Amino acid sequence: DRPYLEVDDLRVQFKTEDGIVRAVDGISFALPRGRTLGIVGESGSGKSVTSLTVMGLHNAARTRITGSIKLDGREIVGLDDEQVRRMRGRDVAMIFQDPLSALHPYYTIGKQISEAYLVHHPGRKAEARKRAIEMLDRVGIPQPKKRADQYPHEFSGGMRQRAMIAMALVNDPSLLIADEPTTALDVTVQAQILDLLEDLQREFNSAIIMITHDLGVVSQVADEVMVMYGGHAIEFGSVEQVLRSPQHPYAWGLLQSVPSLRGNAEEDLDPIPGSPPSLINLPSGCAFHPRCAYKMVGGGPCDLEVPELLPTADAGHVVACHLPENERRRVYEEEIKLG
Ligand code: SF4
Ligand code: MG
Repeated sequence: DRPYLEVDDLRVQFKTEDGIVRAVDGISFALPRGRTLGIVGESGSGKSVTSLTVMGLHNAARTRITGSIKLDGREIVGLDDEQVRRMRGRDVAMIFQDPLSALHPYYTIGKQISEAYLVHHPGRKAEARKRAIEMLDRVGIPQPKKRADQYPHEFSGGMRQRAMIAMALVNDPSLLIADEPTTALDVTVQAQILDLLEDLQREFNSAIIMITHDLGVVSQVADEVMVMYGGHAIEFGSVEQVLRSPQHPYAWGLLQSVPSLRGNAEEDLDPIPGSPPSLINLPSGCAFHPRCAYKMVGGGPCDLEVPELLPTADAGHVVACHLPENERRRVYEEEIKLG
């Protein structure tokens, strides 16, 4: 079976006054329907730009996109605005962290979901209204008929997130991109939304890209995980491979900043020291080297050569780090893995 989404050597650059931002610098992955890819990284890692590019949301005038993005075998890099409009919502839809940025305050929820339907089903107003109410019901909003006539501010945060999911799914897209969809929600509501997404995925057999800085979210929903740093993929594998035996020092740092995964939920987070690199001026060699406790510098390769994403002994698990694999495994087992 051909994957629904195939991304090959994708590069996204944009010009700013300060220089060229290399937001995504050569990433590749494939995603079949019914599967969820978690893309993980800090802000500025390139994870959101990747998704916006797949959605065709980049302003072509300032942005240079190379490589390939295929949806169901069709190339979408280089499509014109009209072609992108036809694809967006019908083939790919997106949900964001902040539903209020996607929902218009002056229109009722029902109207907005209907409008999203009408973009791809022009003129079918009565059907759109019916479909909006069905979708509200499907995402777990009680009294969907009444709720359809309310405005976004009359919904709680969790309900707004459900409404946005209803709007994203109204045209039955094959690929859903969720960018930090639960970050603003409390833990209970977060778990409910993630459960809902999994149910909907089973029902619609959609492919999902889950973009998050939170490995806890990834562990709940993802099948595969791509860890991004400085616009590069630095580790990729199944959720078991990346969460149970991560091999990149940056992934170790991410893991240690998730208390629930360490099994000591009360303890304070251990954030990774230092800050994400500038995408205009990446550090030489491994972009993570200024923050890496395991770097080999001064004649060593870490500050000189960009590490390639290479296979490990575990099929499907690939890592970009100069440390020898046996050393990475040893460090993880002896120093990182806790509780
Ligand atoms: Fe650290 Fe070097 Fe590996 Fe980069 S390549 S993560 S600096 S050990
Ligand atoms: Mg799933």
